[in-house]
Amino acid sequence: MAKSNAERMFPVLTPAQIARVAARGRVRAVTAAEVLFESGDATTGFFVVTEGQVEVIRHSGGAEDLVAAYGPGQFTGEMNMLAGRPALVRARARVDCEVIEMDRGQLLALVQTDSEIGEILMRAFIVRRVELIAQGLGDAIVIGSNHCGGTLRVKEFLTRNAHPYAYVDLDRDSDVQALLDQFHVTAADVPIVVCRGEIVLRRPSNRQLADCLGLNEAVDSAQLHDVIVVGAGPAGLAAAVYAASEGLDVLIVEANSPGGQAGSSSKIENYLGFPTGISGQALAGRAFAQAEKFGAHILIARGAIQFNGEHTRYAIEIGDGESVQARTILIATGAEYRRPLLESFPRFEGVGVYYGATFMEAQQCVNDEVVVIGGGNSAGQAAVFLAQTAKRVYLLVRSAGLAQTMSRYLIRRIEEHPAIVLCTHSEIAALEGEAHLERVRWRNTSTGEVESRDIRHVFVMAGAKPATGWLGGRLALDDKGFIKTGTELSKEELIDAGWPLLRAPFLLETSLPGVFAAGDVRAGNLKRVAAAVGEGSIAVSFIHRVLAD
Ligand SMILES: Cc1cc2nc3c(=O)[nH]c(=O)nc-3n(C[C@H](O)[C@H](O)[C@H](O)COP(=O)(O)OP(=O)(O)OC[C@H]3O[C@@H](n4cnc5c(N)ncnc54)[C@H](O)[C@@H]3O)c2cc1C
Repeated sequence: MAKSNAERMFPVLTPAQIARVAARGRVRAVTAAEVLFESGDATTGFFVVTEGQVEVIRHSGGAEDLVAAYGPGQFTGEMNMLAGRPALVRARARVDCEVIEMDRGQLLALVQTDSEIGEILMRAFIVRRVELIAQGLGDAIVIGSNHCGGTLRVKEFLTRNAHPYAYVDLDRDSDVQALLDQFHVTAADVPIVVCRGEIVLRRPSNRQLADCLGLNEAVDSAQLHDVIVVGAGPAGLAAAVYAASEGLDVLIVEANSPGGQAGSSSKIENYLGFPTGISGQALAGRAFAQAEKFGAHILIARGAIQFNGEHTRYAIEIGDGESVQARTILIATGAEYRRPLLESFPRFEGVGVYYGATFMEAQQCVNDEVVVIGGGNSAGQAAVFLAQTAKRVYLLVRSAGLAQTMSRYLIRRIEEHPAIVLCTHSEIAALEGEAHLERVRWRNTSTGEVESRDIRHVFVMAGAKPATGWLGGRLALDDKGFIKTGTELSKEELIDAGWPLLRAPFLLETSLPGVFAAGDVRAGNLKRVAAAVGEGSIAVSFIHRVLAD
């Protein structure tokens, strides 16, 4: 019989399982009211209760809310425990108890080696995190407005990092003034993020948010990792999972949030094993949890800005004078959205112009008319997805039709959907509005006719260019800036790059030994999640060979 959500969230370990945990941890007595860990503690233990009861509490406005109570056989913890991030809640003994205590290293070893207990713990940690997110029970309050582009960015950043938060909308929540007064901020400061009820961030960057919420471990510039994976899209996350699970010391550096382009996809329907489709965010979230389970270290909102070093010791600069080092590098920086050249696009980013079509953006345009720009599969998916909730979707393509650029199954859905209007030979002529986009004009390039509509939402799905600018010319690229690898590299290119070895580059190896490229950043890539995942995992097998030399 399928387990209920409560059973998955609060499982009870059997005596045999408890004995296996006890063999690896420390059994100790705890007196009533003793705090096992405090909200905000950077390092927390993992506790299995063997006698008594432990309660998990959250503070809100001076009061204590009970989140959960664990009896014999039950255990503390959620995803932050695996990631080594600060606790979101306080755990306290209700009565005199006996517990088994483990530190994070012992917990990671347990979930990696005892598959039965590992599955129970991982499932409970993930379901607990999902519940915290659903109930907005985190250590962050976001105060913002739908008329402020930064608000969507902050919400997206927290959501993509699976960080629970409560949202207070300036335009809708009646008690917002009391909150603004409490934290000595004004509406002009939005988006505002209050961390742990103590620190107030006005219009924070993603980096400031990551630092304040403790999403990142401290950077150790002196440590020489086995491999640094640059970019946490499907290719980078796959590489991290394989490398970490095969015992390599892996560090991932990600400029923004895990998930990459796939994270902005509303539904991926062609990825093996998900017959009903999976949202890019869900796929990325699972992959991220998997990488954490195997002990990969991850830096969020810390992009690579320069590539340095030589064969056997490479260094990646990540800003603020900090750099990280490794014997091998996997570049999986994918591609960046192409932004239309019209000047007005950046002005309305987040307040009417979007580059992804996920549940979050769709919520902003329920029963409204929207425009989707682009003729590829990502535009088709967005149109079909948005048509579920929007009043009408205008799909604008420059060409005469979709046949050359979009999968047949999507074309059929678009043709059959009553709410989607395909506008061929069309391009945006103007975006107009004040604080928010209010009107869109588009031109038919065959007839010259201009159509003007009061539309407040434009989704740009117009392809992407490779994220290779930060490499500073150190690697051989093709004429469009994608990284060349393996047999695509000519003898001349290898000589120019100073290739120092007798052997030729391995599959996916670039013009520098031990530096690999996988996924959408690679010349000849297939622009598919499955291909990126496959390449990320293949690269790891060659990384082992380089490390063994
Ligand atoms: C809306 C949309 C829908 C899609 N739907 C499908 C689909 O249904 N099926 C399918 O197979 N494919 C789909 N794709 C394509 C698929 O998402 C990509 O092929 C895949 O994500 C490529 O993975 P990647 O890891 O190579 O690169 P990306 O996904 O581009 O990830 C690269 C990562 O690197 C990070 N990064 C960039 N520069 C730096 C830097 N300097 N330092 C550190 N990090 C950096 C980025 O922030 C990003 O997280 C879709 C794409 C989009 C945009």
